[in-house]
Amino acid sequence: MKKIALIAHDGKKAELVSFILQNRNYIENAELFATGTTGKHIENAGFNVIRLLSGPLGGDAQIASMVAEKNINMIIFFRDPLDKHPHEPDVQMLMRLCDVHNIPLATNPASAKLFLKGTSAG
Ligand code: PGA
Repeated sequence: MKKIALIAHDGKKAELVSFILQNRNYIENAELFATGTTGKHIENAGFNVIRLLSGPLGGDAQIASMVAEKNINMIIFFRDPLDKHPHEPDVQMLMRLCDVHNIPLATNPASAKLFLKGTSAG
């Protein structure tokens, strides 16, 4: 089963929930991980998800650690480019480790949709 990490900044959480509902067939067949608050929204939408710490408290760093240990297959991270985030260093670390370990990282719905299409189940 594919392991997918889902993260959305506050301004993008509604967009992420809408994305997973639109792609339910694929998302339901994956093992989901999410940062704390994003995970709460995903749970409320009816999905099973393993919730990590909230992003500003280390959730992005936890996902970065999963990337480094090759415990995650794909990351969907809807970032809000119009807002500031106290944990920007953690976000940079996560993106850097995705590049180090060649883990697919989609940062907006258009790219996430292509990622899902590119998988056998998508
Ligand atoms: P959150 O963290 O899901 O706990 O809001 C996401 C983030 O800002 O990285």
